[in-house]
Amino acid sequence: MNISVIGVGYVGLVSGVCFSELGNKVICVDKDITKIEMLKRGEVPIYEPGLKELIDKNVKAGRLSFTNELSESVQASEIIIIAVGTPSLPNGEANLQYIEQAAREIALAINEYKVIMTKSTVPVGTNEKIAQMIYELTEHPFDVVSVPEFLREGSAIKDTLYPDRIIIGTDSKPAEQKAVELHSTLTDQIIVTDIRSAEMIKYASNAFLATKISFINEIANICEKVNADVTLVAKGMGLDKRIGPSFLNAGIGYGGSCFPKDTEALIQIAGNANYEFKLLKSVVEVNKHQRFNVINKLEDLLGNLSSKTIGIWGLAFKPNTDDVRDAPSIEIVETLIKKGCIIKVYDPIAINNFRKVVNHENIVWCDSITDAAIDCHGVCLLTEWNEFKEVDLKNIEKLMKLPVFIDGRNVYAKERIEETGLNYYSIGRPDVN
Ligand code: NAD
Repeated sequence: MNISVIGVGYVGLVSGVCFSELGNKVICVDKDITKIEMLKRGEVPIYEPGLKELIDKNVKAGRLSFTNELSESVQASEIIIIAVGTPSLPNGEANLQYIEQAAREIALAINEYKVIMTKSTVPVGTNEKIAQMIYELTEHPFDVVSVPEFLREGSAIKDTLYPDRIIIGTDSKPAEQKAVELHSTLTDQIIVTDIRSAEMIKYASNAFLATKISFINEIANICEKVNADVTLVAKGMGLDKRIGPSFLNAGIGYGGSCFPKDTEALIQIAGNANYEFKLLKSVVEVNKHQRFNVINKLEDLLGNLSSKTIGIWGLAFKPNTDDVRDAPSIEIVETLIKKGCIIKVYDPIAINNFRKVVNHENIVWCDSITDAAIDCHGVCLLTEWNEFKEVDLKNIEKLMKLPVFIDGRNVYAKERIEETGLNYYSIGRPDVN
C-alpha cells in the first residue's frame, strides 16, 4: 500500500519505518525541516534501539522516503496516518492545535478517496471533529479511523511489529477493510470498535497502567513503615494471573510523554462530561509526590543540602530512550538546585535533551558514571539503565565524599549493597536499606 505518515516523532517515525519494513511504500512527512533534512542525510532525530538500521534498510530498498511536502505525499497515498503530538494544555486538556492543522492540510490536499488514520492520542470525539473539519474543506470522499498507538519508547519497533492488539475505531466498512488489511500481518488480535470506544481504549489503558504504578508505590511507602519488602510483595502479587507482574516496580513514579498527559487529559474528559474521576486524580497526586522521596531521604541523611554535591544517574524518563519529557529527573534536579546543591548529572543517551530543558550554572555535565560520583555527598539513581546495574559499587563508594546512595528504581540486590559501606536507601525495601 502507499502510505503517508504525518509527524516523524517517536510514534510516526517508528510506525512509518515498520510499515515500510512490511513491504508498503511509505512517505514520512514533518513540518520540522531540520528533522527531515537529518533523515534525508541518514541521521535519526530520536534514539530508539534498532531504528537506524531499519531506516537505512528500507530507504535503500526504495520503500521509505522523507519530505516536508504534505500535499504531494497525501496525493500519492491511499492511507494517511496522523502521528503528530497532542501535548497538554496548562489545564491538563490535550492541545489539539497540531492535529487540527494536519487535518486542515490533509483536507486541502485530498484528490480522491483516502483513509485517514489517527494514531495520535486524542480525546473522545476528536476524530468526529476532524472528520467534520475535513468534510467542510473538501468535496473528495474520505474516512477517518481511530487507530490508537500503544508502543513503548525503548522497545518501539518490537511493540509495533508484534503488538498485543490493534484497535480500529470506525463506522465505515471500506475504511475498516483497509485498516484491517494494513495490520493483518501483525496480529490476530484486531478489535474493531466504534470511533469513540477506540479513543477511550487508549486513555483507559494508560490510566490503568498509571494506576498500577501509583498503587505499588503506595504499597512501597507502607512497606517502609511496617518493615516489609515491596519487591517481594510485588512478586507475590504478580504471580496471580488476574494481577500480572508488569507495572508493579516501585520507584520514583512514572514520567514521559504519555502517562502524565494522558491521565490529566482523561480527568478533563471526565470532568467535561460532569464526572469526577476521583481514583485517577489520586493516582496523579500519588505520582507527583513519589519523586520527592529521593529529596526527603537526601535531607534525612545529609541534613541541609545547601552546597552539597549530588550525583544524578539517569535523566531519561525510562531506559533505552533519549526522551526527557515530564521525566522525574527534571523536577528533582530543579528542586535540588533551588536548595543550593551542585548537581553532577550523567545519562548515557538523554543528556543533550535534558540540557535543552534544564540548564543552570550549578549543573556539571558528566560523561561517565564514575565522573558523576566523584566528590559527591550523595548519588541518586533515577533511571534504571543497564550500565548502572553493572557498575562496581565499591569503587563508586571510594570516589564519593560521603557514601549516601539513593536508588530510586530498586536496582541493586541486598547482597550487592552488603558488600559495600554505602548508606543506601531504596523504595519500599527497609531490609535492604
Ligand atoms: P513527537 O512530539 O515526538 O512528534 C510529533 C511530530 O509531529 C513532531 O516531529 C512535529 O514536528 C510533527 N508535527 C506536528 N504538527 C505537524 C503538522 N501539522 N504536519 C507535519 N508534522 C507535524 O510526538 P510522539 O511522542 O511521537 O507522539 C505522537 C502522538 O502519539 C501523541 O498523541 C502521543 O500521545 C501518542 N503516543 C505517543 C507514544 C510515545 O511513546 N511517544 C506512545 C503512544 C502514543
